[in-house]
Amino acid sequence: MRLGLDIDGTITADPVFFRERASAVIKNGGEVHVVSSRSPEARVETVTELSELGIRYSTLHLLPHMSAAQWLCPHRELDWYQKHMWLKVAYALEYRLDYFVDDDPKVLALFDRYARGIKALSFLDRHLV
Ligand SMILES: [Mg+2]
Repeated sequence: MRLGLDIDGTITADPVFFRERASAVIKNGGEVHVVSSRSPEARVETVTELSELGIRYSTLHLLPHMSAAQWLCPHRELDWYQKHMWLKVAYALEYRLDYFVDDDPKVLALFDRYARGIKALSFLDRHLV
């Protein structure tokens, strides 16, 4: 299984749950992709934080800056915030994730719109992973 996880409001909101779930996925040969809109400059502190929370993962992907998203995202119909969050969807499609857990309804709506094959779950439905 390839699992995508948001950090803020997701992992940070229930680190004990995600610690156990991420470990189980990796132990069973799957992948855990942590994908966050934290700025790329926050990488070192994010690695430290995930380590302190005991979260195992295969890859940590921090989205390019919001300004870059404006030309990286091809969907003209989306607003600036959606274009930035769409980069999570693009990542999930590129790495063929099976599940993605995120607390932001706007992110979940983008998965629903552009990546129907990926099971996007809200934080509240995290137990379904
Ligand atoms: Mg979040």
